[in-house]
Amino acid sequence: MKYQSTRNAGEQVSASEAVVNGLAPDGGLYVPAKLPRFEETELRSMLGMDYCGRAELIIKKFLPEYSESEVKALVSAAYAEGYDDSATAPTRFVDEKTGFLELWHGPTCAFKDMALQMLPHLLTAALKKCGETRRICILVATSGDTGKAALEGFADVPGTKILVFYPRDGVSEVQRLQMVTQSGENVLVKAVDGNFDDAQSGVKAIFNDRAFSNSVEERGWLLSSANSINWGRLLPQIVYYFSAYCDFVNFGGIKFGEKLNFSVPTGNFGDILAGWYAKKTGLPTGRLICASNANNVLTDFIASGVYDRNRPFHTTVSPSMDILLSSNLERLLYSLCGSDSEVSGYMQTLAETGRYEISDTLRRAIAEDFSAYFCDDAETLREIRAVRDDSRYLMDTHTAVAHRALRDYRAATGDKTPAVVVSTASPFKFCDSVLSALGESTDAPGTELIERLAQISGAAIPEGIRGLAKKPIRFSDCVGKDEMRAAVEGFLA
Ligand SMILES: *Cc1c(COP(=O)(O)O)cnc(C)c1O
Repeated sequence: MKYQSTRNAGEQVSASEAVVNGLAPDGGLYVPAKLPRFEETELRSMLGMDYCGRAELIIKKFLPEYSESEVKALVSAAYAEGYDDSATAPTRFVDEKTGFLELWHGPTCAFKDMALQMLPHLLTAALKKCGETRRICILVATSGDTGKAALEGFADVPGTKILVFYPRDGVSEVQRLQMVTQSGENVLVKAVDGNFDDAQSGVKAIFNDRAFSNSVEERGWLLSSANSINWGRLLPQIVYYFSAYCDFVNFGGIKFGEKLNFSVPTGNFGDILAGWYAKKTGLPTGRLICASNANNVLTDFIASGVYDRNRPFHTTVSPSMDILLSSNLERLLYSLCGSDSEVSGYMQTLAETGRYEISDTLRRAIAEDFSAYFCDDAETLREIRAVRDDSRYLMDTHTAVAHRALRDYRAATGDKTPAVVVSTASPFKFCDSVLSALGESTDAPGTELIERLAQISGAAIPEGIRGLAKKPIRFSDCVGKDEMRAAVEGFLA
């Protein structure tokens, strides 16, 4: 199986090349040239498997040049340890027709672990297959979750180094502590004197500086990023849709072969797109419900066919979804219209005007699989309270947006299909919002709020958050925007 660029179908590469390159040379994203198919017998066999077994079966079909034992090793490195639930990604049922797929039992308590625990191993294996002998240095600009998940994934992985830049005043206290206490010999964390945009533009400028990357490459290092446009981040996410389906059948909420809906809290469109790939490769899936916060560019797009990022940016209580440019949407457009020139056209218009309008045919094709809803912060917090009161289930703010979308969808359509709400973060990661949703005071230091949430919810504090305050701080440096390149230089010297 080959992969091709969304902007030039003629550009075909192997799975390893897609992972090593990240972005195609023409600026497009890599997608499978032809999707594999999971037959009924394969789906049935997954019912009796654990998460690793399901992951092996699915991932190997997308990585034809990897042997069975190589895939097994990848999966085991990513999921065999480090999760505080033996099911890795358990589904919790709150009624006969509704389950929460919890993707936050990994080391950093957010769903980005599901992909970033595997990416480093996928990447180093891919480098070998491509005959690449240089080592890889990952640069990340983060607004919170990605940086920590990438650090945790790459820490002490041979042949790699990772440097994370975070905006000094732009991350939560828990997020900052998680990063500056990171262990590992190959990691470095720097605050940047500026906001997330400053950190992000700084990293982009380093990537675009040819002379700099050449000099780094001569010293045996390849610069790379760990953001969600890499196929290696999408692939591991396909697995948990299959896994949740199996859990639903085993629970008795559906019969094997019956359809299941999924509601997904969406930012960059990576998570929900993985659900769409699951559907297109044979998982009996009904609707994919795209849930957004006040940054509802996708809700409007799915309803009208117009993507328009020229709108105010809202800072919300679900910050990991505060995105106006959903990069992975490009993959869906390409797979549905099958035309690289049509997609290139949309993306060029987007770059020039911040807006594009898709054809009617394409809009209808999207509507066959996707529904979209959004809610604001007040509704998000009310949802946390309501679900806690009605079902004794505690959700974080991102998951709450998805639960609300599912409720709105059910009310609007009367669709009684059982559904999975994709739960993307532990409530402890967004402690102050969750506490205020429950009507509690949040006037205390971050670490005290964590204790408070544990007390009133009766839930155990996750391993990745417990004891953060007592961990030694390893990284306290702050650099100016124009000192970021020198920081990379020093790190690789
Ligand atoms: C990144 C993230 C999302 C959004 O996922 P996308 O793949 O960007 O759509 C939702 N919730 C949490 C907690 C996240 O960290």
